[in-house]
Amino acid sequence: MNRANDPSRKSWVFVPNNSDFSIQNLPFGIFSEGLGGKRVGVAIGNQILDLSAVEKLGLLKNSGFHQSDFAAATLNQMMGKGKSLLCELRNKISDLLLEGSDIANKADIILIDQRNASMHLPIKIGDYTDFYSSEQHAYNVGCMFRDPNNALLPNWKHIPVGYHGRASSVINSGTPVHRPKGQQKPTDNDPPVFGPCKLLDFELEMGFITLEGKPLGDSISTAEANEYIFGMCLFNDWSARDIQKWEYIPLGPFLAKNFASSMSPWIVTLDALEPFRVPGPVQDPKVLPYLDYDGDHHIDINLQVAIQPEGSTESIVCNSNYKHMYWNMQQQLAHHTVNGCDIHAGDLLASGTISGPEEGQFGSMLEISWKGTKPFAMQDGSERKFIQDLDTVIMRGHAEKDGIRVGFGEVSTKILPTK
Ligand code: MN
Repeated sequence: MNRANDPSRKSWVFVPNNSDFSIQNLPFGIFSEGLGGKRVGVAIGNQILDLSAVEKLGLLKNSGFHQSDFAAATLNQMMGKGKSLLCELRNKISDLLLEGSDIANKADIILIDQRNASMHLPIKIGDYTDFYSSEQHAYNVGCMFRDPNNALLPNWKHIPVGYHGRASSVINSGTPVHRPKGQQKPTDNDPPVFGPCKLLDFELEMGFITLEGKPLGDSISTAEANEYIFGMCLFNDWSARDIQKWEYIPLGPFLAKNFASSMSPWIVTLDALEPFRVPGPVQDPKVLPYLDYDGDHHIDINLQVAIQPEGSTESIVCNSNYKHMYWNMQQQLAHHTVNGCDIHAGDLLASGTISGPEEGQFGSMLEISWKGTKPFAMQDGSERKFIQDLDTVIMRGHAEKDGIRVGFGEVSTKILPTK
């Protein structure tokens, strides 16, 4: 076991009850404060441990990491060191933050209050792939747009279906998004029209960030996959449903998806999530051997979506869980590389919308309002079928077991009117 996961560990840094950032978590992010440059930090309670400052004090000697790895605008260089050094780095950081550590008297040099820091997009994302791996979501969409008796397409239980997304428009939490414009075809018999999207939607997803993979032509097996995954984030994969409906045949998603996707700023390591592994669903029909796996590779992560109208209180519109995935990350990565496709440090692979089996657990407005036929009643008395201008969509997530909480913070995005 990673000693950083030891549930008996307590920190000399104050960690409030219900904080996502316990000493058992230690997620990595990129922050800045005042006139200082961007650099690598680790969240602990309401504070950020400044790894650049820690390294300058000589506290990370023989770790394999150097000042340039931490005085960096992204986590990519640090991630380039590979899984085992990154795992040991988190263990060393845990030791430094452990109750009784003699660096507690350096707190004013190495800790920054999160309220005084700005968080930045943590990764220079090379490639972004989006899957479609929640059975309930695929079933709901199939019911709405095709046939409830044949809701899943014939390939769905054989292939973790996915498509290549757009890396350039993945943005940090807090970055507002203007309502996209595009072609729509509101009626079958009239020609298409151009204008602001009328059916703007979120997709509740989680993303995982890869480490440097194998050379082009080689594959990563399900058994090897964990060695190539650094960590996870919350991910809101914004979608323009009316644009999507008109454009997606025959090549799939394009402008309905690539205007923005929002990610949470802290990357929670796969190591920190190990204690929260759970069994996945029985996969029937049996998958092909390259997609088969041993052990528990699903993860119990509570997920929540809230909509906050301008100047009003938020309404919780969804409570879901990452364990509801049909295909797990190991299968997704094995499938992605089975043809020899190469992955690199800083690639982003997203889950697809995560919907649970019950109403109240659906991960998009498309499903919550059932294509706009069932408006959602908000706390402030208004209704939502889709997302309105000046709404802020907030996603939160955490794992919790035996009193230990490992969370992601949030990804929050405000929608502005069309430019
Ligand atoms: Mn998506």
